[in-house]
Amino acid sequence: MIGTGYVGLTTALMLCELNHQVVCIDTDTAKLKQLKSNRIPFHEPGLEELLNRHLSRGSLSFTSDTGQGVRESDILFITVGTPSKSDGSTDLSQIKNVAETIGSNQNGYKVVVNKSTAPVGTCEKVHRWILERQPRKLPVDVVCNPEFLREGKALYDALHPDRVVIGAENGKAARFIRNLYDAISCPKMMTGLRTAELIKYSANAFLAMKISFINEIGRLCDAHGVDVTDVATGIGLDSRIGSRFLKAGIGWGGSCFPKDLASLVHMFEQADLSPRILEAVRQVNDTQVEYYLRQLEERLGDVRGKTISILGIAFKPDTDDIREAPAIKVIQALHKKGAFLKAYDPVVFIHRAPTGLPVTLCSEMSETFEDSDCIFLLTEWKNFLHFDWKSHRHRMRTPLIIDGRNALDQNALTQYGYIYYGIGRVYSK
Ligand code: NAD
Repeated sequence: MIGTGYVGLTTALMLCELNHQVVCIDTDTAKLKQLKSNRIPFHEPGLEELLNRHLSRGSLSFTSDTGQGVRESDILFITVGTPSKSDGSTDLSQIKNVAETIGSNQNGYKVVVNKSTAPVGTCEKVHRWILERQPRKLPVDVVCNPEFLREGKALYDALHPDRVVIGAENGKAARFIRNLYDAISCPKMMTGLRTAELIKYSANAFLAMKISFINEIGRLCDAHGVDVTDVATGIGLDSRIGSRFLKAGIGWGGSCFPKDLASLVHMFEQADLSPRILEAVRQVNDTQVEYYLRQLEERLGDVRGKTISILGIAFKPDTDDIREAPAIKVIQALHKKGAFLKAYDPVVFIHRAPTGLPVTLCSEMSETFEDSDCIFLLTEWKNFLHFDWKSHRHRMRTPLIIDGRNALDQNALTQYGYIYYGIGRVYSK
């Protein structure tokens, strides 16, 4: 497993659970040191127990020596990062680096499986990059096996996927990889390399589209006094639509949707096509923070000099990942407008302290209420929802709550004397 982040480590542990022997490779030696001593370097429920189990059984090992890992393995998974470049295209340098190292160290037939999300045509490039580095022209097959796990539920998703997609041009290599997943019961879709690559991007774009759609409907609900949660329930009960990813809120973020949509838009442009739906999906999302800030200012007036408390920094609950988190956008925008900011998150500041964020950190949720003019909820951590909101109201200077996730109990909070705003929410007396 080359790359031991959220995807690589989870996949490695899933394969160990299926009785495979796995070597995890990473260039980040600090990360490897933690892993070797039974510690997960990020927050992801359930991984630590399996790490302990498989380290002690000897089914899992870690190394920073990629060459050795390549020589000792039959199957090489690529699970490195694929960040965006400034023009929206995908930076493939980590994948290229890995492919070249594989080529330089190849000592027999290998199946190379790309799990990193990468544009259509990348697996063909990987094949070429490997061959360019190995003069003996040893046989190598490249397979695309995109990953669909959700951070926060990564282990569950890896062990119980909705489907496994295996893209390959060589049937033997495809079957070899499908056999790895034999013990997992779900549809296994065998397809071509380019199809598998495009399935991953289309899936993420479709999910982002559902969120942007309900967020746009949420704005109309605000204008007409209609409850967006009822609208979502009413449309979600239609089995052609489905109820998931129809929760209105501050918008999507995280390590995948923003960069994957940017990459897909770039692929359209490269093909001389206009990605009209995707542009609209992104535009709704890009203006959602502004929309919330207008709602805040309508209720609080000018935010200059006011104290605003941010509840939750992670881009979603059960992860410490803050890449492209809406909370970061909100913090930066409010700071620019002259607000004082406090923030609390149950895991983010423990595992990865964001540098340069203009916020005062609170060590407990209750501290966010003290002399605050507004509490802005941006991650729906369970303990926020079950907090004793009633007893803390009096500690706020202005009892305003902006619920960026439509997660709190509006009726209860209103009865406790709070002023509540959630997009498209209607108070039922
Ligand atoms: P990550 O940043 O958590 O992990 C990537 C790891 O690769 C890091 O530990 C890094 O040190 C390592 N690495 C970089 N270059 C290396 C090299 N040359 N050799 C060995 N290790 C190297 O990334 P992630 O979130 O696990 O994502 C990995 C890929 O999976 C990305 O393409 C992403 O789009 C995709 N993906 C991510 C998720 C998710 O929820 N995080 C879900 C599906 C797909």
